[in-house]
Amino acid sequence: MGLKNSIRVLHVTPEMAPLIKVGGLGDVAGSLPKALNSMGVDCRVLMPNSKGLAERAGSMGLKVVRCPGKVHAAINWRVYSAGILKTQVNGVTVYLLDQPELFSDLEAYPKSLTCESVLPFIFLSMGALELGRAVRWMPQVLHLHDWPAASVASMLKWHRHYHKLREHFETVLTIHNLAHQGIVSPGGLEGWGFNKNSFSMDGMEFYGHVNLLKGGIIASDKVTTVSPRYSWDIQTREGGMGLDGVLFANRNKLSGILNGVDYDVWNPSKDPLITSHYSPSDLSGKAKCRKDLLRILGWEDGNDVLVAFVGRLVEQKGVDLILGAMNRILAEPIRLVILGSGHPLFEEKLKSEAQKHPKKLWVSTDFDETMAHRIYAGSDLMLMPSQFEPCGLSQLIAMAYGTIPVARATGGIADTVIDADGADDGTGFLFIDYSPEEMTRALKRGIAAVSNPSRRAKIMRNCMTADFSWRQSAKAYLNIYEELLGYQ
Ligand code: ADP
Repeated sequence: MGLKNSIRVLHVTPEMAPLIKVGGLGDVAGSLPKALNSMGVDCRVLMPNSKGLAERAGSMGLKVVRCPGKVHAAINWRVYSAGILKTQVNGVTVYLLDQPELFSDLEAYPKSLTCESVLPFIFLSMGALELGRAVRWMPQVLHLHDWPAASVASMLKWHRHYHKLREHFETVLTIHNLAHQGIVSPGGLEGWGFNKNSFSMDGMEFYGHVNLLKGGIIASDKVTTVSPRYSWDIQTREGGMGLDGVLFANRNKLSGILNGVDYDVWNPSKDPLITSHYSPSDLSGKAKCRKDLLRILGWEDGNDVLVAFVGRLVEQKGVDLILGAMNRILAEPIRLVILGSGHPLFEEKLKSEAQKHPKKLWVSTDFDETMAHRIYAGSDLMLMPSQFEPCGLSQLIAMAYGTIPVARATGGIADTVIDADGADDGTGFLFIDYSPEEMTRALKRGIAAVSNPSRRAKIMRNCMTADFSWRQSAKAYLNIYEELLGYQ
């Protein structure tokens, strides 16, 4: 397909690596449009010019230009206007909505959710529908990410003005994490321009509140989640976070597509942030990375198995399980490295544990990209006891670096890690029950495996040769676009 006839897709997102990254969505927005473009799609990105973003892009050496047009949208009986900045990130055109009153204090997401604090995202959603006219590039598919963009679809269904644009756009909503739904009081709807039908059981109404994600699920043409297993998990009472009924009712348009890993960034054979390079055919560099990591952590060299955890310190990631099993796991021949920030309570507890066990436990609550690379490369096992996991990048990155996951079989982890005690092509050690005992049992199996050099090398090679590249995932998204546009 030539570029002239390419499918035009606009991704609407609050974050995109490397401009601004909070979690997995940032990685996806940084990688998926790039992969789609390489397949001939004309994929662009729209995001808010949130706090310091354009300046940051400039300091990364990106050229940011101001487009001639403006976007205007009416909210709460007044018109907001936004300039449009444009830059190129890895060949992908990124439009930044420049509206200082709404966006200059915003750090990707509001700190708490109210009708006021979600206003930037109501405006962003309107901006997605207005952008085409302003920049003279009309998307055919609007690809919406999580609750901050979900209202685009709701507006095409229930907005007093924007419903008229319904026939011009197809919509895809991707749920990266159902824990975040954008729930606010219903007071805002009228001022945002929604009609009365929007606040009903078949609309955004959710136990007397407004649920922006729910509206998006109902109003979008397709809904995707970031792994097949998670698309099933969220249709159950345990995993549905109150939306299982809605998701089950909309299951015909729901599918799961695994996130990929950007192997340009996460690649032990050429990663500039690690001291020694290695590959499946020559694993020797990993031992050097391990030595280097131990030196950075201030620990002596030794044979204890180096177990790592890299991730947000929140309930979802199973931090309470690690805390609950701390004495038990530190009694094993291991040393544990934790890099993560998040809930202050978890941060404090982990730091005080690290003070108690300075030779066995190292904790940093920084967000430190360089350290993350070094930990992925230098560790032996990666602990990931998630309560739930929409896709999970940490286990995929760990595998790329030959760091064997010890993880709970949920969501995307269950789709990507194969238990090495049950299969020849195994890549990790899984447990099912969310309990300290089960986690410790899986960890012990991992410790036994890495203590046997030939077994360890085999599992490491299985991990490093497993292919979770974006190309596969991008193909699946392209299929969805083509189906929606009637090209199939
Ligand atoms: P989630 O999106 O739920 O946070 P994922 O596993 O999908 O979890 O993605 C997390 C990403 O953020 C990974 O790339 C991980 O390496 C990175 N990350 C998490 N915490 C930190 C940290 N403190 N420092 C550096 N990178 C981190």
